[in-house]
Amino acid sequence: MNLWVKRDEMTGVEVSGNKIRKLEFCIAEAQRQGCDTLITCGGLQSNHCRATAIMGTRLGMKVHLILRGEEPELPTGNLLMDHLAGAEISYLPAEGWSTAHPQYAAQLQAEAERLGSRAYFIPTGASDEVGLWGYISASEEIAADLRAANLRPNAIVCATGSGGTQAGLIVGNELFNLADKIVAFNVSDDAKYFDERARLDIGRWQSRYADLLAGTAGADIDVATIQVNTQEGYLGPGYGVAGPEVFETIKQLASCEGIFLDPVYTGKAFHGMVSEIRKGDEGCFAGATDLVFIHTGGLFGLFPQQENFHFSD
Ligand SMILES: *Cc1c(COP(=O)(O)O)cnc(C)c1O
Repeated sequence: MNLWVKRDEMTGVEVSGNKIRKLEFCIAEAQRQGCDTLITCGGLQSNHCRATAIMGTRLGMKVHLILRGEEPELPTGNLLMDHLAGAEISYLPAEGWSTAHPQYAAQLQAEAERLGSRAYFIPTGASDEVGLWGYISASEEIAADLRAANLRPNAIVCATGSGGTQAGLIVGNELFNLADKIVAFNVSDDAKYFDERARLDIGRWQSRYADLLAGTAGADIDVATIQVNTQEGYLGPGYGVAGPEVFETIKQLASCEGIFLDPVYTGKAFHGMVSEIRKGDEGCFAGATDLVFIHTGGLFGLFPQQENFHFSD
């Protein structure tokens, strides 16, 4: 078995990871609409919020983050970087979050409007029909990588959290014929959720960009029949919480290859991929000879969880 890694943890230093690919399109849309402020939301250690905070500052835009949970005494990891980048931060309780955060975002947008400014709301993980372009465009790049390596992988593998990377790769695979399938390991929710989510976001992309897509292969994608392969079984205790096997996997890959995974996304997905490979014919990669793992970043999420690593043995 050959394991290949698409190093999207190297899309930048401070803005490293998959979120910059989606933000490239979401922030362009915000600017097209004449917005001077970005509002977005996520967990306390959101890689997406950190990337938005930094990109906003670089582009001279104000950034307001809505984070889920209580303000910690000491900001670490991504949250430290949000503060350093000068983002305004509001904390909303985890309870009632799903209804409260879009309401709060709408309130902030109305306030901005009153003050003669204009705020663009980017949903969780920049996973919507605009952000979808990120991994469609990445797929074009991956197609070139595969040609250069003379490689046709059995599967392209990633972690899925807000679904935009997975859905973008599914569209990308339809357009650029990268691999036999896209396999995503869920780090939250379940397969059913991502199945519906991918179809919904791809459908919205087709309607929003109908004029642009007219007469292209993108318009022909049938959301009813696309394959959404979400491999369950590796979520562990819950989103952002990993078992010892994930920390062991992170340690092993770092010490074997010098490639650093994170405990929230890539560590779980990589552990899931290796476990499925070990299952042989019973696993979801039965018969595969080449897999491409998309390393989606997340390094800064390691530091707030450092107590889970043990080095004494
Ligand atoms: C957000 C994130 C993911 C998941 O991508 P989605 O498009 O939200 O599903 C994977 N890995 C890392 C490091 C992330 O920050």
